[in-house]
Amino acid sequence: MQEKSGSLLFDELDQDELTIVKVAIAVPLSRSFDYLPDGPVKKYLPGCRVRVPFGRMQKVGVVLGTGPATIEISKLKKVTELLDVSPVLPDEILELVNWAAAYYHHPVGEAFATALPIMLRKGSSKEIERPCDYALTDAGQATLEIKRAPAQAALLNFIRSSDGAVSAAECRLFDDRWSTVIKPLIKKELVKKVWPEYNPNESTPVVTLNEEQRLASEKLHENLDHYYCALIDGITGSGKTEVYLDVARTVIQAGKQVLVVLPEIGLTPQLVARFRTALACQVEVLHSGLNDTERMLAWHAAADGSAHVLIGTRSAVFTPMPGLGLIVVDEEHDGSLKQQDGFRYQARDLALLRARKAKIPIALGSATPSLESLHNAQKGLYETLYLRNRAAGAKLPKMISVDGRGSEVDQGLSRRLLLLMDEVLARGEQVMVFINRRGYAPVLMCEACKSIADCDHCDAHMTVHAYSGRLRCHHCGAERAVPLACGACEATELVNVGVGTERIDEFLSEKFPDYKVLRIDRDSTRRKGELQKHLAAATDGSANILVGTQMLAKGHNFPLVTLVGVIDADRGLFGSDFRAVEQMGQLILQVAGRAGRAKKPGVVLVQSRNPDHPLLQVLLAEGYTEFANQLLEERQLAQWPPFVYVALLRAESVSKEGAKQYLSEMKRLIRSLTDADAEIKSKVSVLGPAHAPMERLAGRYRAQLLFLSPVRKPLHKMLASLRPNLEIHPLSRKVRWSLDIDPHDML
Ligand code: ADP
Ligand code: ZN
Repeated sequence: MQEKSGSLLFDELDQDELTIVKVAIAVPLSRSFDYLPDGPVKKYLPGCRVRVPFGRMQKVGVVLGTGPATIEISKLKKVTELLDVSPVLPDEILELVNWAAAYYHHPVGEAFATALPIMLRKGSSKEIERPCDYALTDAGQATLEIKRAPAQAALLNFIRSSDGAVSAAECRLFDDRWSTVIKPLIKKELVKKVWPEYNPNESTPVVTLNEEQRLASEKLHENLDHYYCALIDGITGSGKTEVYLDVARTVIQAGKQVLVVLPEIGLTPQLVARFRTALACQVEVLHSGLNDTERMLAWHAAADGSAHVLIGTRSAVFTPMPGLGLIVVDEEHDGSLKQQDGFRYQARDLALLRARKAKIPIALGSATPSLESLHNAQKGLYETLYLRNRAAGAKLPKMISVDGRGSEVDQGLSRRLLLLMDEVLARGEQVMVFINRRGYAPVLMCEACKSIADCDHCDAHMTVHAYSGRLRCHHCGAERAVPLACGACEATELVNVGVGTERIDEFLSEKFPDYKVLRIDRDSTRRKGELQKHLAAATDGSANILVGTQMLAKGHNFPLVTLVGVIDADRGLFGSDFRAVEQMGQLILQVAGRAGRAKKPGVVLVQSRNPDHPLLQVLLAEGYTEFANQLLEERQLAQWPPFVYVALLRAESVSKEGAKQYLSEMKRLIRSLTDADAEIKSKVSVLGPAHAPMERLAGRYRAQLLFLSPVRKPLHKMLASLRPNLEIHPLSRKVRWSLDIDPHDML
C-alpha cells in the first residue's frame, strides 16, 4: 500500500475501493474502527451515523472521516447502512468531542455516545415532529356537526370551546382515543396544527438593573463578538440571573442562541420559567429527568436553531447550536459539572473551550467561585465582575460561629441555636437546620463491647435509619434490619451515636410540638413529586422548621427563613481530600444564602467542634474571597491544583492485592516507556500506588496512582503513551480501572 500514489495501478483503480470509513463506536476501546463503504465514499461525511457489524452485533457509530486503508482490505467488513444524508453533528461538535476524548484519554466512541441523545445513538431518524397544539380552521369554525361521526364532532366542539389552541394532553383528557379521532379532522381541514410563536423582540425587562448589575452586563455587551470570559462573582441573591437575562436578551434579539449549563436538574424549572417570561422566547431543557423523546425534541430544537435558549446539565455542552452567541455556566464551582464515572469530562472546562473556538463570550457565575476560576481570573484569563450586594434590597445574613461540643449541645443542636429558634418561630418566621447526613445516626454501637455495626462490603459504618428500621450503607447501598443484639457479644444495649436528619427531625418535633417540622433529604423525597411537594410547603410557610441535607442548600429561595443552623460544619476541615475545605466553605455559604432572601435580615449559626479553626474564622468573619485567597496560598505551598495538573489512575479488584499489583506494573511501564524523555522525567511525579481513602467499597479493594505535573504537556504525553497499555496489559483483566484527568476528588 505504501508507494501507491502516482502509480499506474492506483490511477486505474476506483478511488472508493481503496478508501475506508473511520467509525467511532461506543465500546471501551480507545480507537476508531475501519469499514468499507457501502456505495460512494463521498457520502460518508464526518458526523453522519452508520450501522456497522461489530462482533456478532450491529452497532451504530459516528463517521470520523475517510482515508486510505491501513490494513488489508479483504479483512475489513462493510458498513451495513449509512443512516444520515447530512451529518447529525456539525464540525464544531465533532471537533469538541474529539478534543475531549483526547484530553480525557477516553475512548472516542463513548465520548460520542455522551454527546448524542439516546434515540440518535440507537439509530432513529433525526427527523422528529415537534409537539404541536390544535386549533380550528375557518372551515372548522363554520362546522357545527359532522354526520355519522359523533366523536369527531365532540372533539371539534371541545377545541372550539377552549378558544384558541389546545394541547395534545388536553385532547387526551377529553377523549383518550383522540389521536385517531383528530386525524380525519385534520384531513378534512377542519383542524390545523399550530406551534407556539415566540417573539423575542417583544420581551420586556422585568427589573431595572442596579449599578453593579449594569456594569457587569455592559462588560459582557462590549464583548459579544469575540471570545471573552467573565467570572461573575456575586453573592447569593445579588441578581446574577438578571445579568444573564439582560445579556441573553440582546443576543437573542440579534437572532442568536444562548446555552446555559447548570450542575443540577433541580435548578432548571425556576430558571426556565424566568427565561421564558423575561425573554418571550423558546427555551428548551435537557437533563436526565426527561424521557428519550423529550430529550430528542429539545436537542433537535437547539440543533436546528429554532430554540433561542437551551438550559441543561453537563452533557448539554455537546448540543449543536448553529447560532450560538453566549454561554452561561451557573454555579460554576459545583462538583456535579464534572462527570464522575465513564467519560469523566468537566462541562465547565469544555464550555470554555467551546466558547473560545466559537469566538463568543462565556459567563461563569457563582457566589463561591472555584479556586481554579479564581486563579485563572488572577492570571488575567478571565475578567471578574463583582456583585457584592443583594439585589432586591435584602440584607446579607449575619454569620456566627458556635461551639458544638460537650455540654453545649442537646441531640447535636447547640443551646444557642435552640434559644434562637424559640424567638424566630414565635415571630412566625422559618428556621432551617442543615446537616449533611441523612438517616437517624451514623453509628450503631454496642454499649457493652463498644463494637460498631459495619458494612460487610465496605470499610464503613452502617447508618441507622429509624423510620424504616434498617441499617444502610451509604456507600454501597447494602442494608439489613436494625439488630436486636450486638453481633459480637450479643449484648442488647445498642446505642445510636451521632445525629442525622431523622434524629433532628424527631427531636425538634418533640421540642416544638406546635410547629411543623419538614425533613427534606433523599429518603423523604424518593417518590416522584415528593420533592416538589416538600419544596412548596417550605416556600409557602406551611412548614416552620426545615431539616435537610444539601438538597436544601442549592438554589432554592425560601423567603420566610430568617435563621439557619449549620450542624457539623467542620467535617470538611479534616477531610482527606484536597478539595474538602474549599467545598466546606462553599457549602456553608450556599446554605447561608438561603437565609433572609426577602426583606427580613437573617442569622446563620455555624456550629462546629472546632469553632476556633482559623479557616472557619476567616470564612465567617471576612468572607469567601479572603477564605479562598488563603486556600489558594495553601494549595500553592502544597503544590496542589490549580498550581499543578493532576491525573489519577484508579483500580479496584476482588483480591486484596490485585489493584495495587496492576498499578505497580503500570508505574514500572511508565518508567520504561518514558525513560528517554527528559521533559517527562523531570516534570511528572508519579505517586503511589496507595490504597484509596476508603480501601474496600462494595466488596472491592481500591488503589490509586497519582500523577502530578507543573505543566500540562509532559503529563499528557506520558498518559498518551501509557493509555494503550492500560487496556491491553494482561493484569487489566483482573481489575476495573479508570483514568481521571483533573479529578474532582481523590475518593
Ligand atoms: P442570584 O442569581 O445572584 O442568586 P437572582 O437573579 O435570582 O440572584 O436575584 C435574586 C432576587 O432578586 C430575585 O428575586 C430577583 O428577581 C431579584 N432581583 C434581581 N435583580 C434585581 C433588581 N435589579 N431589582 C429588583 N429585584 C432584583
Ligand atoms: Zn457498603
